[in-house]
Amino acid sequence: ILEIRNMTKDYDGKVVLKGISFNVHEGEFITLLGPSGCGKSTTIRIIGGFEKANSGEILFEGKNLAPIKINKRQINTVFQSYALFPNRTVWENIAFGLENKKMKREIIDREVGKMVKLVGLEGHEDKKPNELSGGQRQRVAMARALVMKPKILLLDEPMAALDVQLRKVMRDELKRLQKEVGITFIMVSHDQEEALTMSDRIVVMNQGIIQQIGTPEEIYNEPENIWVSKFVGTSN
Ligand code: ATP
Ligand code: MG
Repeated sequence: ILEIRNMTKDYDGKVVLKGISFNVHEGEFITLLGPSGCGKSTTIRIIGGFEKANSGEILFEGKNLAPIKINKRQINTVFQSYALFPNRTVWENIAFGLENKKMKREIIDREVGKMVKLVGLEGHEDKKPNELSGGQRQRVAMARALVMKPKILLLDEPMAALDVQLRKVMRDELKRLQKEVGITFIMVSHDQEEALTMSDRIVVMNQGIIQQIGTPEEIYNEPENIWVSKFVGTSN
């Protein structure tokens, strides 16, 4: 569904992506895994349209993605901070994107209602974000992105704001949700265990270079180099 070819990026001459290439298959849960500063967020910001690459190309269903505006891409992003509207209720936060598209009230209500159910927020529709727990806020962010029916959902460290206990719960929940909606997920994580347990495939990055691409089993059992084996903890 997505092909990234030889993508490079620098900030004021500081090279952050040194030519990265990978494919994403439809319906796949793929994780970009690597240490802080390796360029994971930069990569998905470029895919989401919030940033421009210096060179390389991205094909979405075979077509060049670069000229397509953010709101016309069938790609949606869940940010680390969730970026919810503090003065709007759960319901209004989820409905916002559909209202912007000037959809009919009854369609909006139907779709938002479905999403509230899907992410398990029944009974919380009229609350403001500050009346919710971290996990509930994360569910609102997921619902708000999914209600737009994107073909690809980008998730930048979606569990970073949650405590350890909740993070484990949300891991299963996110995985279940992805299976249920059948949408392609591209997640960013620096947590090896998270990536190994949730992903169909993992793209291991370090310092703007892809070190290995493979299934969790391949990454764990057959690391291609010493850096990968150290990073996933199979050698010390
Ligand atoms: P983390 O796990 O800490 O979120 P990351 O892998 O997501 O790290 P990026 O946010 O992609 O890393 O950043 C890669 C590098 O680019 C870092 O060295 C960062 O300081 C730099 N960088 C990111 N955004 C900008 C920016 N807007 N201007 C200048 N430098 C930036
Ligand atoms: Mg980041």
